Amino acid sequence: PEDGKLLTGALSFKEELVEGAMTPLDAVFSLPEETILDEDTMGRILKSGHTRIPVTSEGKAVAILYAKDLVGVGFERNLALKSVLDAFDAYKRVYNVYEKTSLGDCFALCKRERRHLLVVVEKISKSLCGIVTTEDILEEILQDE
Ligand code: ATP
Ligand code: ATP
Repeated sequence: PEDGKLLTGALSFKEELVEGAMTPLDAVFSLPEETILDEDTMGRILKSGHTRIPVTSEGKAVAILYAKDLVGVGFERNLALKSVLDAFDAYKRVYNVYEKTSLGDCFALCKRERRHLLVVVEKISKSLCGIVTTEDILEEILQDE
């Protein structure tokens, strides 16, 4: 983008809210915690093309699967997703923000915790309502969506 636009974006993104930058729930590729890693599921994960995949239970994000966790898993074994999540401590990768959290706070959290993906949850129920990644924040800075 032109310098003026870039400067405006860099100065204003911190006050903008998650709701304007997030990928909403209906567009999120996620997997239920009870998933079995069979051929069909492994194919869908690959086809999604995403590096980080929220794992859900009863409407809440309980873990984040990284595609790289699946190196060496193979679909013939029909492994339970849960065993992979346990092996990689994927339950510790969940960091929640709200739709009304500022992108400045999100960016600080991403940096502090070295996370690229944050889970957006509904304030009261804590149910999953979207995700926001450093890529989404960058787009607000560049103002090129
Ligand atoms: P990368 O390989 O670069 O990590 P990615 O798609 O996995 O790609 P990001 O680059 O962080 O992840 O994000 C790019 C866009 O895809 C963002 O708008 C982000 O919100 C969205 N995104 C990331 N993960 C998912 C997912 N599991 N389901 C749906 N959208 C996603
Ligand atoms: P993530 O799982 O979050 O993508 P990552 O280490 O693969 O982690 P980044 O988070 O983009 O990648 O980078 C973190 C740091 O690791 C950066 O300083 C980056 O330059 C460095 N880094 C990334 N990939 C490699 C690599 N293949 N070899 C050495 N350093 C790397």
